[in-house]
Order: sequence, then C-alpha cells, then structure tokens
Amino acid sequence: MNILFLTSPAPERAPFSTTEKRPPLGLGYLMARARLLGHQVFFVDCYLEAAAFDAEAFFSMYRVDAVALYLNTICLTGGIDLLHAVARAREDGSFKGIILVGGPHTSVGAESIPDFVDHIVIGEGEISLFEILDGQEKGRIVQGKPWQDLDTLPFLPWDLFASLPYHKSIPWVEADNVFTMNTSRGCPFSCTFCSVKSVWGKSYRYQSAGRVLAEIRHLIEVYGVEGIYFREDHFTLNKARLLEFCRGVVSSGLQFVWACETRVDALDEESITLMASSGCKAVYLGVESGSQRMLDRLGKGIQLVEVERVLMLLKKHGIVSYCSFVAGIPGETFLDLLRTKALIRRTQPGAHAFAVYVGIPGSELYREMLISGNYEHMSDNGLLFVPGYHVKTRYFYGIPSEQLVSFRFRRLTGYDLFLLLLLAGSKGGELLRRWKRRVARLAALAVGRG
Ligand code: SF4
Repeated sequence: MNILFLTSPAPERAPFSTTEKRPPLGLGYLMARARLLGHQVFFVDCYLEAAAFDAEAFFSMYRVDAVALYLNTICLTGGIDLLHAVARAREDGSFKGIILVGGPHTSVGAESIPDFVDHIVIGEGEISLFEILDGQEKGRIVQGKPWQDLDTLPFLPWDLFASLPYHKSIPWVEADNVFTMNTSRGCPFSCTFCSVKSVWGKSYRYQSAGRVLAEIRHLIEVYGVEGIYFREDHFTLNKARLLEFCRGVVSSGLQFVWACETRVDALDEESITLMASSGCKAVYLGVESGSQRMLDRLGKGIQLVEVERVLMLLKKHGIVSYCSFVAGIPGETFLDLLRTKALIRRTQPGAHAFAVYVGIPGSELYREMLISGNYEHMSDNGLLFVPGYHVKTRYFYGIPSEQLVSFRFRRLTGYDLFLLLLLAGSKGGELLRRWKRRVARLAALAVGRG
C-alpha cells in the first residue's frame, strides 16, 4: 500500500509554545513499521511547515491508498481543515483511499473528529493501524494495542527526518546536530494536571540500554550526530537501565553529549555521577511548584526536600538543571507562588520557566474544573482557561492573552490582584529608573558646562 503520513499544522495562537519543531517520533515508529511491512511511505510534516501539503497537487502526482493524520488537541483546528482537504480530494476522485486519524487527541476527543474519517485509533498504533489496513480490524473507533517490547520496534526512519529543518540544538548544551529520541512509554504516576496516562497508559515500558545505544551508534555513524535529547517523560525512571546506559556509553567510546527529561525522585547521587561521566549535560525537571501544598494537590508525589537535594547534586556534578513550574492552578494562592519564587532563589537552577495553567482534557483537574465550573473560557479544542488568564500571561510571559487565545478575559481572582500590583510596581520601578537616568544625564551635562 502507499500510505501518506501527515502531521497537523501548528495553530497561529496557542497557550503552549509551538515554536520548537522536532521530528514526530510517535509517527516515526508507525512509518518505520509500515516500511518494514513492505508499504510505500510518504511523509509531510505540516506542523513543521503549515503550507507543506497541497492535497490537490499531491494526489495528482501520487497514488495514495491511505492517509494517516497525527492529531493533538492544540492542533485540532488545523488538523480538521487538513482532513477536509483530503475528504474533498476523495469526493472529486483524485484520492480513492481510506482516512485514518491517530495521536493524543483521539484519546480525549474522538467525538470531535469528522464522520467521514474511516478509522480513529486511540493510543498506540503500531499494531492496530496495520490490522486496519489488512482488513482484520473493521471498527471505526479502535483502541490501539500497546506494543509491549519496545526493543523490537525498528529504528526510526531517520532518513526522512534528517533532511528536514528541525531544531537540532538544545539551549543548555553546546553541541550541533542534536537528534531527539524517545525510548520509553507510559507513566505510573497520577499528576492531576496531566493527561499522559490516557494516551500511553500507566505501565512504564522502555527500550533496553543496549537497544538505545545501538540506535545512537547508527545516528553517529550515518548522520554525524553530536548530541541526543531524550524527549520523554522520565528517561531515568528505571535506575538499572540508566546505569547500564551510562556505563555502556563510556565503554563503547561513543562520542556524544546528551540531555533528558525526568522527575527529581528518579535521580540520586549514584545516577547523577554516572550521567555526568557519560556526557549528560542537562536535565529538564517538571518541578511544578515550590509549595508542598500545591505539589500534593497536583498529585506530583515528590517532596520539596528532594527537589533541593537533586538540584544541588546536579550542580555539583556540572549538569545544568532546567526546572518548569506551573502557575495559576485552581486553588493556588499568592503565598504558594511566593514559595515557588523562594525555592528558585534558594536553589538557583540553571534555568527555569513558568507555564500558566491551562486545563487539558483527560486530566483529573480538568474534570474537577468542568464539574465546579471554575473556569472562564473553554476554547474550540476543549481547553479550559482559568479566570484572570490575561493577567497571568502578562505577568509570567509579558504578553497579552489575545496573542495566545481569541477570547477577552475579564474575571480576576485575589491572586491576579497581587500580580497586578507586582506588574504596576515593576512599571513604576522602570519609570523611576528612567527618571533617575535622565537626572544623571542632565547633571553630567551641567558639570560638563561648568
Ligand atoms: S506530569 Fe509526568 S510524572 Fe506526572 S503523570 Fe504526567 S508524565 Fe507522569
């Protein structure tokens, strides 16, 4: 079969950053499997380049038997437009195949996918997509069967990704030609703001250290890769695998630097020491809050004392820590925010950023907000926005909320009043600084004349 794999265009406005463009690794595994099974693969990454796909031109050039679209909630509108373009091609006869949709949005919003879509795969597609194409699976909404042994997945189709203009660097690591990998799936934790488990499930599966190293060796030998960014929820969760990987890097003599994402409770001094000696330069940590009360509310399952200990250990071993925090979670007080700021001051992570909370379908907090009605706006793609979102984006991002979501927010909470005071204070401070500079200039001129 000839299968066209598409990603959905990034929206012009979104409450989450869409500027970072890295290869769609989940779709990559489907394409790798498709090739292995003898299918011809076409790939157009509309998330990377919105105008990359012209249905009319494409179908006039190539015979396509199936179109498989990767859809996430943020890209829902663009993805649906793309589906309509494919459906129009089917109506006019230039495309005669079937239309399939997969990706994270199917787990939380399958009902928003148009009726003309023939099959919707929820969860993992490496088995179910091909059962559909074989005709073994006939359902419209198909619960994807998880791929249990990730070692048996083929290498990603790097030849398709290597020539495209993806981000090939990491801000905190000095290396060019950094490729992104994802070596594990599933999350056993239950953070109330997160919907990962509705996509990948709760059981943590991972590739063995040897399998990961084999793919890295291939990337170095064929593409001259200098760095790897493990873009997955917690690369270090299985300590035995982590230590084997680090020792394997050292004994193999492979020359590359790496960075990963993980949780503070999945790191200790033994791991960090070996990570540093095997080329780890940076670790991204979802710390979320400096208030234990909020960490508990978020179901994060970590203690502040662990955060402080791990940040100190990373610094000691020369690994940059990047901490992400969430602000404006329903129930968070200004005092909680002050505690977060105090944690940042105390621990001095290598870098940190705040994300203003947005309710994500499929998460526990989202359900709670829906029931309580404690939100000011629900966007077309079902995201929930807290009251005072406009003040929070001003304070935490320095931009008006209209740049992120087309809605005029009006409500304010006590938390927002404090943020407004801080904003006014910094504006007043800036005016005062400008005035002082002006006086100093006048004084200098006066002295010069004298
Ligand atoms: S935030 Fe991370 S640790 Fe928590 S549930 Fe989501 S993926 Fe798991």
